[in-house]
Amino acid sequence: MERSDPVSALKGIGEQREKRLHRLDIFTVEQLLTHYPRDYKDRSQILKISELIPNETAAFLGQVRGEGQNGGRGRMVFTRLKVYDETGSVTVLWFNQPYMKSSLKTGEWYLFTGKVQQKGRQTEVVSPECERIGENFAGGRIIPVYPSVEGLSQKTLRGLVEQALRETVDTLPEELPLWLRKGYRIAERNFAIENIHFPKTEQGFYDARRRLVFEELFLLQAALFRLKQTLEDSGEGIRLKRKKAVWEKAAILPFALTDAQKTVLKEIEKDMTSGKVMNRLVQGDVGSGKTAVALAAAFWTIQNGFQAAIMAPTEVLARQHYETFTKLFAPVGIETVLLTGSLTAKEKREALAKVASGAAMMVVGTHAVIQAGVEFARLGLAVTDEQHRFGVRQRSLLADKGKNVHTLVMTATPIPRTLALILYGDLDISIIDELPPGRQKIDTLAVNSSYRKRIYAFIQKHKAEGRQTYVICPMIEENEKLEAQAVLQHTEELQRELESCRVACVHGKMKAKEKQAVMEAFASGEIDVLVSTTVIEVGINVPNATIMLIENAERFGLAQLHQLRGRVGRGSEKSYCILVSDSKTKVAKERLKTMAESEDGFVISEMDLKLRGPGEFFGLRQHGLPELKIADLSRDMPILKEAQKAVAELIERDRELAAEEHQPLKRQIEGYLEGKNLEM
Ligand code: ADP
Ligand code: MG
Repeated sequence: MERSDPVSALKGIGEQREKRLHRLDIFTVEQLLTHYPRDYKDRSQILKISELIPNETAAFLGQVRGEGQNGGRGRMVFTRLKVYDETGSVTVLWFNQPYMKSSLKTGEWYLFTGKVQQKGRQTEVVSPECERIGENFAGGRIIPVYPSVEGLSQKTLRGLVEQALRETVDTLPEELPLWLRKGYRIAERNFAIENIHFPKTEQGFYDARRRLVFEELFLLQAALFRLKQTLEDSGEGIRLKRKKAVWEKAAILPFALTDAQKTVLKEIEKDMTSGKVMNRLVQGDVGSGKTAVALAAAFWTIQNGFQAAIMAPTEVLARQHYETFTKLFAPVGIETVLLTGSLTAKEKREALAKVASGAAMMVVGTHAVIQAGVEFARLGLAVTDEQHRFGVRQRSLLADKGKNVHTLVMTATPIPRTLALILYGDLDISIIDELPPGRQKIDTLAVNSSYRKRIYAFIQKHKAEGRQTYVICPMIEENEKLEAQAVLQHTEELQRELESCRVACVHGKMKAKEKQAVMEAFASGEIDVLVSTTVIEVGINVPNATIMLIENAERFGLAQLHQLRGRVGRGSEKSYCILVSDSKTKVAKERLKTMAESEDGFVISEMDLKLRGPGEFFGLRQHGLPELKIADLSRDMPILKEAQKAVAELIERDRELAAEEHQPLKRQIEGYLEGKNLEM
């Protein structure tokens, strides 16, 4: 068996099971082997039945000496079975698994693992895992617990991994060169894979984990380095001419720039006149005015005779940018075109022609901008908005649309420094740390659903004053159909309650065109209340909307709530954010309290870190990188540093990865960059 074989090459995998494995992103045997345990259970300590202690989880061997008994009360079926060893007997008990009655065979020995309970004089073990013990049973062991999905039991997964290990033993290729493994004391890959699943000793486990964490962080950073290298090696940057006070040229803007915006523009100006290629990240809280910075930079680029492009993660946001840019650029004779997936063939042809001829100097779009077939006459500046929604790879694809193109990426997600180093090690960072003047504080209220009537009255009162409202329902993961239903249902209910309002919704099942129509109607005030899921989270700007009502607020991350709240308070009117939640857990309450008390994105993200723990916070996915499979950045910092050192050493030894011993590594890195890994 080859490690690249489909996982269905293993015995015991039918269609159902294969589907479930796919849901875990396991398609090949190797992917199964790199599906690492999330935890372990210690079955190396096997107790005698007489040694079982109530309220502790234990592993013990027991012999079956007769059939189990099924009993029941109401809908509940339970199965009782007495098992024996030389020191005594104990009752094991399962709920609603009547088949257990006949699935254990009389006379056979089994290894049971479960929690021991004392019921009066009876000792019971409830819902234990059990495994038949063959003749060559070599004692208990430490067994892995995997991330799984419904319908795929731990036992099944464990069995499949064991089978895969057996079939491919010692055939996994080693990508890390010998000098590196020696110098950094890195265990061999085959050893590591085997021991991460079934550690033979404690040391074996530590060595295995260290190896795999190192490998993961090393590959990630080596890949990012290669990306940066491609950008740098692309040669000299387009050198723009310094115009008198760039930001004053931005006088096409309807407002004066804030000091923070000016500072960032000065940094951009310095980059773009330096002769080097700019690679800059602009970080700024929601509403801090990143679009204006992009606009001024684009304006200046165009004055220098080069095209500028901005890519946004959603169609709705791209259209909104298109309108903003057109409104300001058209009067000064600059044509802006829109490139999105929903253009008709004819529209698309015309747009592409204008981009290619340079008739359109400003290009606004979605992923459509980086597709093959889009050719620029002379692209000078590539802007990616809401960078955390894109993959690292996509950022570079946009820059690849021209020669030596300057790159600006914008994000509202505050990132701790260490993480920023990994993620954006190849970028310089600018921060907009100031909001435009005249913003009023958004009042944030955390309430439970007993306030519903009052909230509805509040919304209607605002409608009477000409204001608008957003209502957000939580996203239903991976089920657009259910989600659409929930949104539609809530919309109907709101329409009944809010008699004076025109209520409409957008959801994931709608076509881009339909969504756009609703968004436009909302922006122009034809709709008073817009119901949606988080699809509107990013970037939308409707200054007349002053109420943000968030249902089941406990289901959202703090950073997300902050983003959503940032959709209101964009005009001069007083705005409100109402968080509805009936959750009584302490964490949920604290989170909502944080939201009510703070308006600062950095404070909120720190609090998020505290309440959720670093594991989730460091989720690289949010930032357009693949999720780490085994490394935990809060705890593996030392290994990260070593991996960084190793990457530096690799570059020193063989920058181009030309040596024979580095070929497997090179392939791995390139696969990493090419594969869906970095594309999201
Ligand atoms: P974000 O940083 O979240 O992308 P936007 O660029 O959408 O923020 O800007 C938010 C709002 O602030 C917009 O309505 C924009 O016109 C306005 N704005 C931006 N800069 C200024 C400024 N210097 N003075 C006044 N309003 C501004
Ligand atoms: Mg924005």
